[in-house]
Amino acid sequence: MTPSETTNNTLINESNRIVIKIGSALVTDEKTGKAKQNWLNCVAADISYLKSIGKEVVIVSSGAIALGRNALGIDYTNRPSSIPLEQKQAAAALGNVEMTRAYAQAFAPFNHQIALILLSPKDTEVRNSHLNARATINTLLIKGKVPVINENDTVSTAEIRFGDNDRLAARVAQMIGADLLIQLSTTDGLYTADPTQDDSAQHIPVVEDYSDDLLKMAGDAPAGLSTGGMKSKLEAARIATMAGVTMMIASGKIDNPLKALLSGAKATVFKAADKPLTARKKWISSHVKAQGALIIDEGAAQALHTGKSLLPAGVAKVEGDFIMGDAVAIRDMDGHTLAIGLMNYSANESRLILGHKSADISDVLGYSRGDTLIHRDDLVLQA
Ligand code: GLU
Repeated sequence: MTPSETTNNTLINESNRIVIKIGSALVTDEKTGKAKQNWLNCVAADISYLKSIGKEVVIVSSGAIALGRNALGIDYTNRPSSIPLEQKQAAAALGNVEMTRAYAQAFAPFNHQIALILLSPKDTEVRNSHLNARATINTLLIKGKVPVINENDTVSTAEIRFGDNDRLAARVAQMIGADLLIQLSTTDGLYTADPTQDDSAQHIPVVEDYSDDLLKMAGDAPAGLSTGGMKSKLEAARIATMAGVTMMIASGKIDNPLKALLSGAKATVFKAADKPLTARKKWISSHVKAQGALIIDEGAAQALHTGKSLLPAGVAKVEGDFIMGDAVAIRDMDGHTLAIGLMNYSANESRLILGHKSADISDVLGYSRGDTLIHRDDLVLQA
């Protein structure tokens, strides 16, 4: 067994939640401007296999602009990046339909339904949109569906676009606490120099510690349909590894790229130092400022210390003004701060449901956003 075989195979086997990013150059046939249906069928077979062994898989796919060019009457030999913004956005609106159709067709023989989600950068950054998007993706995964995510190009303005799905995929992986992000690319990983220009360039199988020095090895996007190139993949690796997500760059230029990885195909692995949950909790405790407080009873305090979520039943008082997604401090009746956490309900909603059983939330509010005021994954106990 070669070292890459051990690493890549084990990494996939040990991951529960995997985000797979598929670039425009893989989804679209450069010669016709249409979807590469046969290749997508093979990828759907690979993903169905991963699902059959218990993995939850989310796809982040590009290709809407490239696939929408034909329908908009733009010659498909125009690179997506050379098309004016408003035409790009119109092409994306048309192309997302085509992209969704191609994925739906690919997954149909395996009886998997796909679900399209279009995200703007703020949906992954602003905490209440982030929690909403995460809840939607979680629900789809629990129901066994395959979420296909793309940037919401039709509404994003140039200044706030991600522009490349490499970083969007890293943000999504962070948001849903994925263990692994696989970037399927036109290259099989990072090299010490651009292998198309330099014969002595060497493949790097593992990056243990991400450092910005790596950017020196990266070139810009190659000619053709790609927008990102190695630089944006490295930016994505920085976001992913800081969030506890290990990232892999692997070749999608073969028919069954994920099965190939399981049998030892070459790739570059960027290792995350922490597990996603540990990284998330570090982020909550170091970056987040409490906007209010919840005063809880002794039973709830004990439950928190055994790793449980905070339910409305254990809350005696709500202080301050905050919205869903904001951080609050959790205090006991003596005023000691026990924890900090991200709220699933606003201050006003919390005041209405405090002391109630979770089953009564819908009756009191007329809707429910789940049983917990703060989910245990969003809660950090104070030392
Ligand atoms: N969101 C763009 C599209 O669907 C692609 C961005 C990228 O190439 O990464 O065409």
